[in-house]
Amino acid sequence: MTETYTGSTEMMIKVSDLEEQGLAVSDPHALEPAFSDPSWRLDALDLQISPDGVDVLVQGRVTATVPQTCGRCLEAFPARVEVRVDVRLLPRPVTGDSVKLGADDLDVDFYTNDELDLKRVVETETTLALPMKPLCREDCRGLCPACGGNRNLVPCACAERAPDPRLAALRDLATRLRH
Ligand SMILES: [Zn+2]
Ligand SMILES: [Zn+2]
Repeated sequence: MTETYTGSTEMMIKVSDLEEQGLAVSDPHALEPAFSDPSWRLDALDLQISPDGVDVLVQGRVTATVPQTCGRCLEAFPARVEVRVDVRLLPRPVTGDSVKLGADDLDVDFYTNDELDLKRVVETETTLALPMKPLCREDCRGLCPACGGNRNLVPCACAERAPDPRLAALRDLATRLRH
């Protein structure tokens, strides 16, 4: 049997209170408001929080909708972000101590004063999962280099390759020198 977290505005988990079987969190409303930016939306989550010695493992998945700007057409759009969470949280070391990290490729983070801030974990993992170059859609046609119009919206009449004016000037000069 896994204990289920049943909603509160606080999402601080006392690490020393974690039972061996861990804690499952699957209600996105339990974290409401989940993100510091109110335009971000937590759609679903399914996380297992398990103690491992003094460490805590947070594993599972998070689905969120985050406003992004398309890298091609510069339009804002809601990006759906699927996050696989696999984080090991260590007790924050006393200042000056160095931390020896394990060889596994889990993300490593820290908790402080016996308190695990689940919201912070969810926000950090979601931020890390955001696309480097967001696209409003795979086949976004972007902006026309000649008229600057959004080619998804306006079928513009510009030639596929508009002549570069600098190149035209050079060609002009070359012609004049030859004569
Ligand atoms: Zn786009
Ligand atoms: Zn154009």
